[in-house]
Amino acid sequence: MKKGKKLIVANWKMNPGTAAEARSLFLASRRAAAEARRLSVVVCPPFPFLSLFSRLANGVISLGSQDACWRNGGPYTGEVSPEILKDIGVTISIIGHSERRARGETDDIVSRKAQAVVREGITALVCVGERTRDENGDFFATLREQIKASFSKVQRRFLSDIIIAYEPLWAIGRNWRDAATPEAVREAAIFIRKVMADIFGDAGAQALVLYGGSVGPENAQALLRDGDIAGFLVGHESLEPDAFAWLTQIANDL
Ligand code: PEP
Repeated sequence: MKKGKKLIVANWKMNPGTAAEARSLFLASRRAAAEARRLSVVVCPPFPFLSLFSRLANGVISLGSQDACWRNGGPYTGEVSPEILKDIGVTISIIGHSERRARGETDDIVSRKAQAVVREGITALVCVGERTRDENGDFFATLREQIKASFSKVQRRFLSDIIIAYEPLWAIGRNWRDAATPEAVREAAIFIRKVMADIFGDAGAQALVLYGGSVGPENAQALLRDGDIAGFLVGHESLEPDAFAWLTQIANDL
């Protein structure tokens, strides 16, 4: 990730189904990144594809993981450690994605994973977001709790290795028209930085906040212009080479 550049992180989730398709998608994403040099572009494929891309990344695009273990080494069947991820060239790990939280990942596990990856020199991209929005604004309390639980044990010296993705669950995996509005994203981003300042002091207010949830070429410009964010975490649209190229171009040209 390059300082001062907007950041686009592609979360492929459990797609595509074969190494050949993954390679072709990766090369298309790399072409898009090469045309958008004012951005930092990161691709997070399923674990087995990561090492296929280590040598293909070429400094144009970076590699990210969709998760990481909270330990390095030991009897943790099925887990992948920050040490292994670092060794194959991963620079960012998504931590606490709502699809993992839905499968039992608690704030405490998220906190331990965030600490483990930053200690390894990997940026922790920690996802937070409310399940529903209520008119009273109670969802702010959910956000505050998630952020405090995720970061209160992280040492201040690692602050520059932390990024927060605001990913309201109600906006994930839908049509761009169902995404959060730029105003809603802006309000959440300001709130998240305020909570980070409560935890880390003034420096916390500089934390980078991304938005994720049905971002596509249609809403990318308004969200980036008015959402007070540093970039996007992109799910299903990152699997569509044309849409992803269009999206990165829009973000690049802004
Ligand atoms: C996500 O799940 O991280 C995400 C951003 O998904 P989508 O873009 O598909 O809403």
